[in-house]
Amino acid sequence: MARQPSARRADHSQVARLSLTMAKKDRTFHISKRVGRFTGDRRVLSLLVLAALFVAGRAYVAEHPEHNPAAPLNLDDPKGWATQTKIMALRDDIPECRVVLERSAVAFTALDPAGEGDCARPDRLRLGDYPLSPSRPPMTCPVAVGLELWQRDTLEPLAQEIFGSEIAEVEHIGVFACRRLYGRGSGPFSEHATGNAIDIAGFRLGDGTRISVLGDWDGEDDKARFLRAARDGACDAFATTLSPDYNEAHRDHFHLDMNSRWSSVCR
Ligand SMILES: [Zn+2]
Repeated sequence: MARQPSARRADHSQVARLSLTMAKKDRTFHISKRVGRFTGDRRVLSLLVLAALFVAGRAYVAEHPEHNPAAPLNLDDPKGWATQTKIMALRDDIPECRVVLERSAVAFTALDPAGEGDCARPDRLRLGDYPLSPSRPPMTCPVAVGLELWQRDTLEPLAQEIFGSEIAEVEHIGVFACRRLYGRGSGPFSEHATGNAIDIAGFRLGDGTRISVLGDWDGEDDKARFLRAARDGACDAFATTLSPDYNEAHRDHFHLDMNSRWSSVCR
C-alpha cells in the first residue's frame, strides 16, 4: 500500500524525464538541422564571394600594374604594392634594370665597366637629365632607378606641397669611392666602392630656397619637415637609407644605397 504512490510517483517522474529528453533531443535535432542548412548556404555564399573577389582582383591588378608583381616595371606608374619588390629585384639584373630605365623614358648613357677586385664596377651609367649637382657621376643602374623614383614619388611632390616650388638641384657629395666602410683599414667594403651608393647633402629649389641636411635637419620648420619626409621617402626607393638620425657620421648627408643583401634599412 505504501509502495503504490511512490511507484506511481516514480512512473510520473520517469515519464517526465523521458519527455524532457525527447524534447531536448527534438530541439537539438531541429536546431542542428537548421544550423546544418545555414552552414551549407554560408559555404556556397562564401565561395561565391571569394570567386567574385578573385575575378574583381584579377581585373583590378590587370589595370593597375603597380600592384602586379608579374607586370613589367615602369617608373611612370604610380607606386603600388609590388613596386618595391620589383625595384629590389633589379639589383641582381643589370640588363633588366636598364630596360626599365628605357621603358620609363629615363635618359642615360651606359658606360664601360671599370675598376677591379673589390672596387670593380661592372654596372656603370650616367643619368641624362637628373638635376644632380655639382655633377652627374657614374653610378649603378639600381641607384639611378632609386633616384628617379625618389624624385618622382617624394622630392617633387614634397617641394610643391611645402614650398610651392620645384626641385632645381639635388646636391650630392659623392658616389664612387674605393674604400671600406667608414674608411677603415679592414672589414667590408662600402657600397661606394662599386658606385652603388650616393651621398646627398642638400637641395636647391626653383625659387632659390636651399635646404641642407647639416643646417636644417634639426627643428620643426618647413625645411626640417621637408628633410624628414625626404628621408622617409628614400626608404621606399633604396635598400639602405641612413640620415642624421643614424649616427654622427651622417649628420651632414643622407647615405642611399642599393645593397643587394637586404632592403628597407631606414634610419
Ligand atoms: Zn655614403
